[in-house]
This record gives sequence, C-alpha cells and structure tokens, in this order.
Amino acid sequence: MALKSLTIVGATGSVGLSTLDLVRRSPDRFEIKALTANKRVSELAALAKEFRPDFVAIADTNKHKELKELLAGTGIECAAGSEAVIEAAKLSSDILMAAIVGAAGLRPTLEAVRRGATVALANKECLVCAGDLMMQEVKANGAHLLPVDSEHNAIFQVLEADRPDAVHKITLTASGGPFLGRSEESLKSVTPAEAVAHPNWDMGAKISVDSATLMNKGLEVIEAYHLFPVEKDQISVLMHPQSVIHSMVEYIDGSTLAQLGSPDMRIPIASCLAWPERMPVPANTLDLASIGSLTFQEPNYEKFRCLALARDALEAGGAAPATLNAANEVAVDAFLTGRIGFLDISSIVEEALTQIDMKAPHSLANVFEIDSEARHLASALIA
Ligand code: NDP
Repeated sequence: MALKSLTIVGATGSVGLSTLDLVRRSPDRFEIKALTANKRVSELAALAKEFRPDFVAIADTNKHKELKELLAGTGIECAAGSEAVIEAAKLSSDILMAAIVGAAGLRPTLEAVRRGATVALANKECLVCAGDLMMQEVKANGAHLLPVDSEHNAIFQVLEADRPDAVHKITLTASGGPFLGRSEESLKSVTPAEAVAHPNWDMGAKISVDSATLMNKGLEVIEAYHLFPVEKDQISVLMHPQSVIHSMVEYIDGSTLAQLGSPDMRIPIASCLAWPERMPVPANTLDLASIGSLTFQEPNYEKFRCLALARDALEAGGAAPATLNAANEVAVDAFLTGRIGFLDISSIVEEALTQIDMKAPHSLANVFEIDSEARHLASALIA
C-alpha cells in the first residue's frame, strides 16, 4: 500500500484516537498532514509532537496561546478558531477523517469533499442536517465518501451499489445501548453516568447518550438514506444486543449478506483508511463459538421515542432532519450537564419539530439558519 497522507479533524476524540492508534502501528502506510481539536489543548499538542503534522488547529480561540507555547520549537504551524479547523480540512491530503462530533463537523467535512478528497465519515450529523447538499458536492467534486460508522461501513462492504434494483432492503443493527431491557418508568431517573456506560462500545459522551436514547440509530437511518441508493422504506432497524452483525443487505433473491466483527471501531476505520485495499488491525478476532448465540428483536418505538422521531423527520424532509439534529445536540448537552432528565431529551426534540416550519435547506447558509433556530428553540424549552 502506497504512503497516504491523512488529516484528522476531531483528533482528540474517541474516533480520532482510534484512527491515530492505527497510524501509530503503521508508520510506513500513513503520514499525518493536519490535526484538530476543540478544547483539549494539551492532548492535541501531545499528538502533534508524536505525529509531526504540518498544521494543527484548535477551535477554541482561548487556547491559542497555550497551543503556541506547547508547540514552541517544534516547527509545527498552529492556529485557532473554527476557520482554522476549516483551513486544516482544506490542506491537500489523501484522506480526511471527519471525526468532529455534531453539526460543527459540517463545514470542515464539506471543504474536504470540495477538494475531491477521500473522506472517511464518522460525523453522521453532517449528513443528517445537510445530506442532499453534501451528496451533491460529493458527486460534483469526484470525492469519495467512505462510511466509518460500523453499520454503514458494513453495508458499504456488502452492498452492490451499482445494482440498486437487486436490493430488497438494508437492515441496520442496533445494540440497544445500556437501557434496552429497562422499563420506561425506570428511565425517568437514569443518570448521565449510566447513560454513557455503553455495554459494547467505548465512545464519546454525545454518541453514547444517543445510543441510550436510540437517537443514534435514528440518525443512522437518515445517514443510510443519503449514503446508499435505497428508498426510505427499504431501511429497517433490528435490535441485536451482541453487536456482532454490524448490518445486512437483503437482495431480491432472498440472499442476505452481512458483515460481522468484534465491536472495535478500529475495524471500520481501517477499512476506510486502507480502501480499496485492506490492512491488518490489532482487534480481537471474532470467536463465534465462545459468543454462543446471537439474538435479535424488533425495536420498541414507544419506549425509545427518539428513534420514531428520527424516522418521522426523514419522512417529513424539509427542515425536519436538521431541526431534529440541532434540538437533540442541545438536549443531550443539557442532560449531560444535569439540567434535564433522560426522557426530556425526546420531549424537547419532539416539541422543536412541531414548532419549526421551514423549507428544505437549499444552501449551507440555510442549513445553519435552521440549525440556529432549532438550537434557540430547544434552549428556550430547556430554560
Ligand atoms: P468525541 O466527543 O470523543 O470527540 C469529538 C471530537 O470533536 C474531539 O476531538 C473534539 O475536540 C472535537 N470537537 C468537538 N466539538 C468541536 C467543535 N465545535 N469544533 C471543532 N472540533 C470539535 O466524539 P466521538 O469520537 O465519539 O464521535 C465523533 C463523531 O463520530 C460523532 O459524529 C459520532 O456520532 C461519530 N461516531 C463515533 C463512533 C465512536 O465509536 N465513538 C462510532 C460511529 C460514529 P476536544 O477533544 O478538544 O473536545
């Protein structure tokens, strides 16, 4: 495999660090071009010293002085602010790993798409709030969008994308998060610590809460709709607590193809980094005999209201997906900081969806307008 240059936006997060773990083990395959973070300045500086990128950006301008001091004498250029993160994404590199959490990842991801890069997409929120615009830009600029999300990566690996007529449906599997077996009544009092304790995956706080509410699966349904040539009613969700089958494609002849693997994000990340080749990953091999049995069940749309809201938002189209995403980001943050309860997350998202009446975004500026309106509304509901 030829040496590839790689920029990671969101380098200090869970996906960013898993990506760098693979790079660390394969120095002959990858060189780091640029790294970015939001606030974790000392972690970012330590990564920069280890991986020696040309450029490092921190979104929080208050951390600029500290970053400069930490990198003094290294010769690594650094800058701060959201524009600096976008500059990092614009720099020429073979692959951009889009690992920022939330709608904040939209502009950097779009810039990499616009320069025709191969984009390994972890940041699902950018497809949720601007899926049509993003996919138009991918096509227009000859970029490659490779899904990092384990479910979408699984489908990417088994889908014959050039033969959509042969596909009956795709099935996204869902672990169900930490509260799959809990009663709705008991969900009223769950704490942020319980919500982020995912049984199978080690992830950032926001996606962990999204997994607990099943909003994550709802966002993934919208993400799948934009990534793959399927209709909305061809995307189904199946609960599968062991997280071994990462997703499936059922063809019209009754054959179902699935991708299986240990629940380790380095597997789908490596699939994107090495694409179209493959590279070794130091993950546990899948030992089906010791797992013993794989179980499945239908999702409970009443208990996990967020999943139903996301499906409704996809169906409604227009401003609904961007509104859903923004209201959810605000509500999850309020839950994590103890300002609302777990079940309030879905109530706030639902209320925001009923109040916003805007048309489908036709430009990036329009996406941010919807995003900002939904954030104001959700904040007001929380207050
Ligand atoms: P983390 O919270 O662990 O990391 C987020 C990263 O984004 C950090 O580097 C953070 O910087 C940076 N960041 C946060 N806010 C901003 C901002 N406003 N501007 C610039 N950078 C910012 O998230 P995860 O790694 O868990 O998830 C990243 C994305 O990948 C999400 O969209 C998630 O849904 C998706 N994903 C994650 C999976 C996982 O296993 N974790 C699996 C599949 C998808 P700092 O550290 O300085 O705060």
